[in-house]
Amino acid sequence: MAHFNNLTCVRMFLAKANDKRHHILVNQNKPGCFSFVGYTKLKKGNQDLNLHKNCFYGIHKVVFHETLHALGFKHTQVRYDRDDHIKVYKDRVSPKRWKNFVRTKGVKGYLASLGLPYDYNSILHYPPYTFSNNKKPTIKLLKKFKGELG
Ligand SMILES: [Zn+2]
Repeated sequence: MAHFNNLTCVRMFLAKANDKRHHILVNQNKPGCFSFVGYTKLKKGNQDLNLHKNCFYGIHKVVFHETLHALGFKHTQVRYDRDDHIKVYKDRVSPKRWKNFVRTKGVKGYLASLGLPYDYNSILHYPPYTFSNNKKPTIKLLKKFKGELG
């Protein structure tokens, strides 16, 4: 929470148990690290963010990643302009996981990108072998980039 408060314009604080306002509810009820993207009407009053104890390794990239989903941010590789920056090999992606690579339709321009350039290093960008069904990369960079994808 402190990292979001110190490094972003998002302000987080602990809600009281009787708080009726919409809020993120962090739990460890299920295995895995996951969240819906943004507000969902499936659960009234809270946005579930499941962070199993296994999500808290290293520098907590997974915790930030999932929290950004809870706040409404999608994966970078689904941006409307991603084909200008990466090639996605659909035939190498496990069919059940293809939904994680489907390019955003409908919303283009500033609203979808927040006016920011495509960020290969985004914490919301998948690494090159994510969900590969044949151990070959599912994502190829189309531009030079020094650093780690995702
Ligand atoms: Zn994600």
